This record gives sequence, C-alpha cells and structure tokens, in this order.
Amino acid sequence: MRRRCMQIILIAVLVICTAQGLWASEVKGLIKDGMQDLKIEKGSPNLLALTNATYVKVNGETSEGYLDMIRELTGCSIGKGNLLLFHRPITYPLKVVLFRKDTKDSVIITLDGNKTEKIKINLDGDMAASTDGWEQIQKKIKSVPDTFSIITIANAWAKGAPYDFLKCCEFHNHLCPGVSSGYQIVQFILERYPLKKAEKYVWISCPPWCKDDAIQILLDLTPGKRSMFVKNLSEDQKKAVSGEKKNDNIAGILVIWDNKGNKGRAIAFRYNWGKLCEVSGVKKKDFKPKGGKKNPVFWTTRVKCNWGLMPYLDKPENFVKVVKELEITPQMYGKMISAGVNPYKVLGLSK
Ligand SMILES: [Zn+2]
Repeated sequence: MRRRCMQIILIAVLVICTAQGLWASEVKGLIKDGMQDLKIEKGSPNLLALTNATYVKVNGETSEGYLDMIRELTGCSIGKGNLLLFHRPITYPLKVVLFRKDTKDSVIITLDGNKTEKIKINLDGDMAASTDGWEQIQKKIKSVPDTFSIITIANAWAKGAPYDFLKCCEFHNHLCPGVSSGYQIVQFILERYPLKKAEKYVWISCPPWCKDDAIQILLDLTPGKRSMFVKNLSEDQKKAVSGEKKNDNIAGILVIWDNKGNKGRAIAFRYNWGKLCEVSGVKKKDFKPKGGKKNPVFWTTRVKCNWGLMPYLDKPENFVKVVKELEITPQMYGKMISAGVNPYKVLGLSK
C-alpha cells in the first residue's frame, strides 16, 4: 500500500515537472519567434524586455527562472537597464513583452494556465495619447490594465527615464502622473531637507494617491516598518485644510525625527495639479471624464501627463510647495500618526 502511494506521488511529481518544462520551452520558442518578428539581434540596445516574471506563479511554481531565459535569448539584462519587471499579483498570467525603441514594434507573449499567446503590436506612446491610437492598441491587448502598464513603462524607458524612476513604475505597475508627482516630491525632500546624523524620515500620506508608491521605493519608507502612515481625507476634510484649492492639493507630511533629541520637525506639502495640466496641455476635468475608465479620455489624459511631466522630474520647484513647517514633540507626533486623528489639525492647518 505504502509503495503504491509512493509510486502515485512520484508519477504526479514527474507529470508536473514535465508540464513546467513544456510550458517553459513553449515560451522560449515564442520569444525566439518574437525576436524574428521584430527583426532585432540579441544584445541590441534598442530592445527592451518587460515582464511580470518573478512576481507571478506559473501553474503553482515561482517564475524567476524565466529571467535567465529572457536574458539568454534577448541579451536584455537588469544591469543594462533594459530588462524591467512590472508588479502583478502572484495569481496573474505570465507576460513577456519585447519592445523596439526605434520603431515601437512589439510582441506580447502570455502564458495563462496551459494556453500561450503571442501578439504583434505597435506600442507608440505618443499615438496612445490620442483617443484613436489608444482604442486601437487597447482592442488588440484586450486587458485595459495591461495596455496601460505596458505602454507607459515601455515608452518611459524609450524616452530615457532614469532607472530609479523606472523602479517606481515597476512597483506601481504603471507610470501615471501620480507616480511622477511622488518622484518630484522626493527630489524636493532630498534637496531641501537632507537628513543629519541620528535623524530619520517618516512620511504621513494624507490623502494617499499614486505618489506614495514612488515615495516608498525611493526612500524605503513603508507601512510595515511604521515609516509611512496612510490616512484618507473626506471631501469636507480636504476643503477644510487651509489654502486648499481645486488645482493645488495637500499631499502629505514629512516628519524628520531626531532620535537623539527625541523631537522632530513636520513639513506639510502641497502639489500643484494646475501646473501639471499646464505643462501637459490637458484639462483637470479630463482626469475624471464621463463614463470613467470606460472613456478613453480617462487614459489618454494620463498618458499625455506622463510625457508632459518627464522634463520636470528633477525640477520639482514649480510643482511642490511647503505649506507649513513646525517643531513637534513626541506627543504631537504620536497624535499625528494615530487612528482617528486628522494630522493637519495637529499642525494647525485645519479647523
Ligand atoms: Zn497610478
């Protein structure tokens, strides 16, 4: 009986291993075909490989092995900055995208369960900023989140975005003006408020938006380490923050905590969406068009802002403003990070 059980287990293990090998070799074949479709040589600096491998599981197995496969076939590598890994839940299908910088011609390979698929598509990021261009691409890719993730990250790379910025996009799983605003806020913090000995940063995200994922990545401030606290504001609470305007919004509070002196400084920031709209040539109302995410304008507005903000990533001065700077005691700090407390009230910025 025991022997019989062992035999069954062994056969099951063998079947799973063989299936994993078959799926892997199928993906390998599709990557080779994809290189031919794109008429590109291994190692070309014009080639980007973008994948969610390492994050997703392929039929129950982790997928880090696909990175070596991609590197061997394409010559793209993390060290060269042309192998990018975008975040997806562990249960998501495997995606491998090959993208040519000069023509924007691309191949998207998917492994979903036992099924593989390869589509050829042009992913021009400037075309995707127009309604027609966006709809054409989205129809072919089918999934709206995949369309947005792949177009924005691949084209940010093609436009020469710095690698630390691309790291934020990988983690956030797409590039949007929210990520760019977080990157700008961090540049502003590092320039104006460098840490001294025995000091540490804590970020109170209030209200949260995509910026906070960039802040997590660049400053290693995370909720789990209690170096980032995330608090939402109701519409009424937003309006009650002094100086709040339609296009100039309160973003969060940086605490610089002095461990030795057991005291800190709190700096509240505002982000100017009006300026962002101005440099990108969009209207603020188009961020929330009729029909929401079903309306292509929802997406094209964000794509336009992505490219509009790129020249200003390291020029945050006209976008980020300090609203208030205050010395804080341990009691004030404790209050600011507690549940049910509006941190702007503690700073005297709200009634
Ligand atoms: Zn976002």
